[in-house]
Amino acid sequence: MSRRIILLPMPFQGHINPMMQLGSILHSRGFAISIIHTQYNSPDPSKYPHFTFHPIPDGVSEDSQASKGGDILRVLHLINTDCVPLFRDCLGKLLSIHDDIACVITDAIIYSSQAVAENLGVKRIALRTSSVCSFLAFATLPLLREKGFYSDDTLDSRREDPVPELPPLKVKDVLGIKIQNMDVTLKVVCDMVEGTKKASGLIFNTFQDLEGSDLANLHDLFRLPTFPIGPFHKFFSAASSSLLTQDRSSVSWLDTQTTSSVLYVSFGSLAAMDERDLTEVAWGLANSMQPFLWAVRPGLVQGSQWLESLPNGFLEVISERGYIVKWTPQQEVLSHPAVGGFWTHSGWNSILESVCEGVPMICSSCFGDQMVNSRYINDVWKLGIKLEDGFKREEIELAIRKIMLHREGQEIRGKLLCLKEKIDSASSTSLDALSDFISSLKYSGDYSSALV
Ligand code: UDP
Repeated sequence: MSRRIILLPMPFQGHINPMMQLGSILHSRGFAISIIHTQYNSPDPSKYPHFTFHPIPDGVSEDSQASKGGDILRVLHLINTDCVPLFRDCLGKLLSIHDDIACVITDAIIYSSQAVAENLGVKRIALRTSSVCSFLAFATLPLLREKGFYSDDTLDSRREDPVPELPPLKVKDVLGIKIQNMDVTLKVVCDMVEGTKKASGLIFNTFQDLEGSDLANLHDLFRLPTFPIGPFHKFFSAASSSLLTQDRSSVSWLDTQTTSSVLYVSFGSLAAMDERDLTEVAWGLANSMQPFLWAVRPGLVQGSQWLESLPNGFLEVISERGYIVKWTPQQEVLSHPAVGGFWTHSGWNSILESVCEGVPMICSSCFGDQMVNSRYINDVWKLGIKLEDGFKREEIELAIRKIMLHREGQEIRGKLLCLKEKIDSASSTSLDALSDFISSLKYSGDYSSALV
């Protein structure tokens, strides 16, 4: 008899994509999948006819500050407080209907779901949707705080200092340089780490050949069954869980360009910048003289509708050399032969998608895990170039030329090719282990009392 798994995604694009991909992977392994999801940023059930969907109110849609998408900490807070009792009710109902439930898999950032699962006697596996290296950095934060790295009065002067506990990270890499609400951020991060420690298992969208040594360190620290079964998009594309319409004219435009000539630029679904940064990005792109495809998400510049914040004269200067859309079918774009480089905000899904297509990266970063990811891309894995100083047109222009035209870009392409071969030939041992692990999990609650 097939066992059922209940999934609870965090309602952000970069978290929904891997959770829905994981659902498809586990479904292909014979598990029945039920999704409990918020109404805010709901996945589209029609794209997954083989799953069952259970919407719950979340408190986010009704909160004007959070629902506009700008206040990520507020959304995290609402999901972990207002939403969790409703998750408990829904899970309780499902447990009273189905006697085949093996476990819940919830996003690691929904740390409050651990207590709900324990209370109902069902095992919880946490899915961490980012890199192991950034998770380890977050797990070390309480120690770093104790040592005074993140006290408000010294933070500014210590930004560039190395963190001896986490080479090659610098102070600015672990929590960012523009951090506001330091105490709230630290609490969210620490709660996520503590909630994950109590889980029965941990799934990462990563792979051994990229993060082998960090996985070993994680195991030493957490002693949890850990399953690095990524990259998920090698099994199922993220296109079906896109919250925005993917503009396919971007692919038609790429069809008109020569091989490896185009730089693809995207800052993901949440990163935002001010008008000054946008101006630097725009002139950096224009001055590089390279063709580019740019996904400018509405809201990239807070308060702007779409392109009205671009500097005067920019569109005339770039003319046919640049193509701008709101949102692309990213995986398809990265696999297009015309794409020769990817300027990314260092979101983990974007990095994995680029690595799998062998596309060298230019990395900026805005918040969360992005600073650690970009440091590793530049200093550890050497798969791209990190922009160290925010957005400066000269630095941008130089990085684009290095990646697209110089030997540095060629060398990175060679490295990526080796990594890509390893991904292609990787065995599914970790996935087999995860399937066996889930099948072995037992419900220790009482089906009749789950519904209270
Ligand atoms: N994405 C997309 N079209 C775009 C830009 C991004 O489909 O124009 C997808 C991308 O393929 C990835 C996700 O959105 O799967 C972004 O996740 P990531 O972790 O890179 O960044 P986040 O949005 O969470 O900051």
